[in-house]
Amino acid sequence: IESELADLTADEPEEEEPDAGPLPIVAVVGRPNVGKSTLVNRIIGRREAVVEDVPGVTRDRVTYEANWRGRRFTLVDTGGWDPEATGMALKIAEQAQIAAELADVILFVVDASVGITDADEAVGAVLRRSGKPVVLTANKVDNQLQELEANELWALGLGEPQPVSALHGRSSGDLLDVVLNALPETPPVVFGAARGPRRVALLGKPNVGKSSLLNKVAGEERVLVDPMAGTTRDPVDELIQLGGKPWRFIDTAGIRRRDRELKGADFYAAMRTRSALERAEVAIVLIDASDVLTEQDLRIISLAIESGRAMVVAFNKWDLVDEDRRYYLEKEIERQLVRTPWALRVNISALTGRHVDKLVPALELAIDSWGTRVPTARLNQFLTELVQATPPPVRGGKQPKILFATQASTEPPKFVLFTSGFLEETYRRFIERRLREEFGFAGSPIEVTMRIRE
Ligand code: GDP
Ligand code: GDP
Repeated sequence: IESELADLTADEPEEEEPDAGPLPIVAVVGRPNVGKSTLVNRIIGRREAVVEDVPGVTRDRVTYEANWRGRRFTLVDTGGWDPEATGMALKIAEQAQIAAELADVILFVVDASVGITDADEAVGAVLRRSGKPVVLTANKVDNQLQELEANELWALGLGEPQPVSALHGRSSGDLLDVVLNALPETPPVVFGAARGPRRVALLGKPNVGKSSLLNKVAGEERVLVDPMAGTTRDPVDELIQLGGKPWRFIDTAGIRRRDRELKGADFYAAMRTRSALERAEVAIVLIDASDVLTEQDLRIISLAIESGRAMVVAFNKWDLVDEDRRYYLEKEIERQLVRTPWALRVNISALTGRHVDKLVPALELAIDSWGTRVPTARLNQFLTELVQATPPPVRGGKQPKILFATQASTEPPKFVLFTSGFLEETYRRFIERRLREEFGFAGSPIEVTMRIRE
């Protein structure tokens, strides 16, 4: 990684408050030479990033923290990704696609003195489809006369072009006002109770003990039947007080219903499982510890993994497990859960109530992990050190570099590595393992993907 990462991280504040939420991302896109870097420099008020007259000059610095009228945001300069001339329109459209996925607002820069080119059209098409707010910037409008040229850009179908001169600063304040208006409202910090009860899907094959567990936790604590989510006849969710907090158990009607052993119940059950997962934040997958792990158990675990939800695997009927069996069971569990070493595990008995109280801390930890955001500065610092200690394997005589990384989302945490070459699957897994060691994520899936800048 070398020094690029270290440089990038210098643009971030030393510490972000963990709960302050991420800064909104504004990505600057456009074909080479339209003035993206000049504009970025203008916005961040610095002259240090290289501005070259050569189109497509490679720059590695890409994110900056910017501030306008007290509102902070992250500015991403995609200028550094400008590829060589071959297949340029396509490459730039791809770049716009990435920006559209990552950014909250896209600043699309067009050179008004040149007018709309094929590459501009291609970017415009991607951005129109993205549904993200786009601020269309007509750059190189150095004087009033040229404002007429800017009007031509209405043809891109992206609304009103904002005429600016990045070079001279003309109207750049107006442009930033428009950007600020397009930024999403900073969401209030909503965690835990403020967002309403946390949502749990209780899953497991028939007879594993779902109703028993539900009765146990609901029986011991206060149950609130909550009919609003379902039909009046058949309440779908139940609010159950656990560890002093209400939890929304999704689709308990399906759990309590007895018609599930009917024919075709498998298909029906899978559908219910999927839709419960969709509405849940965390899944409890119940497994019968007194029996062997079946295909059906593994299918349910797979559904939970695919859903991207946090997960707690509860081995039920632990009262039936004797000392002898325990050893073999541990081995078996290890083998079967090899795909999800991150899942939290509890051994319980819905019948006796043994260790049922351990469910709550496990659920809380899993949900916390699921919502964790690693500040960009810390993430890049960590990766710099990691890559220094263990560089990615050389491919085709070239050492791929990680230019920078960002956490694109939470719930579940997803990381994007911007690289100069292909990172082997094993190396990405290694990064994932180290991310887990460093930042936790117990009980939550995480995703590490790369974007190759060629
Ligand atoms: P990028 O490839 O899109 O990042 O473009 P650059 O920022 O490197 O700018 C390309 C060229 O356009 C440079 O020579 C800049 O000085 C010039 N340029 C940028 N903005 C303006 C502007 O507003 N007016 C004029 N006249 N030239 C500009
Ligand atoms: P569901 O189909 O997943 O809702 O499973 P049920 O809650 O109906 O339980 C199926 C059977 O397993 C019932 O006979 C329960 O009494 C029994 N059972 C559930 N949990 C436990 C447990 O922890 N220990 C033992 N020994 N039996 C249990």
